[in-house]
Amino acid sequence: MSVPAQPQSLLGTTLDELARLVADMGETAFRAKQVVEWVFRRRVATIDEMTNLSHELRAKLAEKFTLRTMKVQSVTGAGDTTRKFLLRLHDGRFIETVLIPASPALYGDRADRRTLCVSSQVGCAYDCKFCASGLAGFTRNLSAGEIVEQVVQVEAHTGERVDNIVFMGMGEPLANLTNLAKAIEILNSHWGINIGARHMTVSTSGLAPQIRKLADFPLQIRLAISLHGASDEVREKIMPVNRKYPLAELFDALDYWTSNRKQRITLEYILIEGVNDMLEQAHLLAKHARRLDALVNLIPYNTVEGLPWKRPSETRQDAFKDVLVRAGIMTTLRREKGHDIAAACGQLRLKQETELGIIESPAKSGALTLSS
Ligand code: SAH
Repeated sequence: MSVPAQPQSLLGTTLDELARLVADMGETAFRAKQVVEWVFRRRVATIDEMTNLSHELRAKLAEKFTLRTMKVQSVTGAGDTTRKFLLRLHDGRFIETVLIPASPALYGDRADRRTLCVSSQVGCAYDCKFCASGLAGFTRNLSAGEIVEQVVQVEAHTGERVDNIVFMGMGEPLANLTNLAKAIEILNSHWGINIGARHMTVSTSGLAPQIRKLADFPLQIRLAISLHGASDEVREKIMPVNRKYPLAELFDALDYWTSNRKQRITLEYILIEGVNDMLEQAHLLAKHARRLDALVNLIPYNTVEGLPWKRPSETRQDAFKDVLVRAGIMTTLRREKGHDIAAACGQLRLKQETELGIIESPAKSGALTLSS
């Protein structure tokens, strides 16, 4: 399949960049302000609608920029439930974005707020054994514009405002740090989408060096770590990234993060039967959480078609949580929303791309066999 060049999106362009560009076109900086007003406040979908700019300037902008690069392919779920958007990108690839009606307790501050779970890459290179996103491997990074556009598309489609953003869709956000940082700047800016930094959470499988880089970032965004194993032995079985950055190295990076921040970090822990749900892991997890002054978010595993993993019984989930609560750790057990709409990340896109023949069925390519 031939892949068209990635058009430069105004949704991924900062006010400063735009000011320089319009200056090069012989216009005043004020024009850049007018453009962002159309783009982010009025949310026009075409440059032609920017009626207070001259036809000439609009034509020049249209040569360089685009405003929409994706289409809503399908929406699953309705009303006040979790809604999952399958978005078709300009190159025919697919990503997923999930709108969650009440913010998960640990990422936002009010129950009536809407949280959007956005993707940062097409596919993922980190190969977590339980995750649908990595099954077909990594395709490409999303541009800053494509990250921001997910919010714009969902708000336009639903007429609702997104209050919180979690980078927990497809991909590893810290493996796309440059575009992620730019997207966060645009999402946060008062001239941009205008979402408070404290209402944005970056989730990572634990890329220690990039955690340090992000810690030096000026905005007070939140950090969540996909831990899923409280010892190296358990964690490296399901998350190959742990061989590269073992727990000691990850925790060092987290110490650096917390030394620089007011907000507590969140340790995410998916409960998978017989893999990481032993109570001895709960005790270790409590120890780590205490040391890092972290919150713990337990998530019963979402089954993925073709993968052998299962969620533990509710009794087991509660027993695991009890260990943490008795150790004084602030813990939530998210009996999740969206199980019925294949909301575990990557599932819809995997199905769509397999059906269209863009990727080979993971079952056929042998990706489902578990190493070690
Ligand atoms: N790469 C980043 C962000 C994307 S994954 C990260 O690893 O954090 C977002 C979260 O969904 C992670 O905690 C991931 O481990 C979890 N996840 C992946 N597959 C899942 C499944 N089948 N059930 C429940 N959670 C899952």
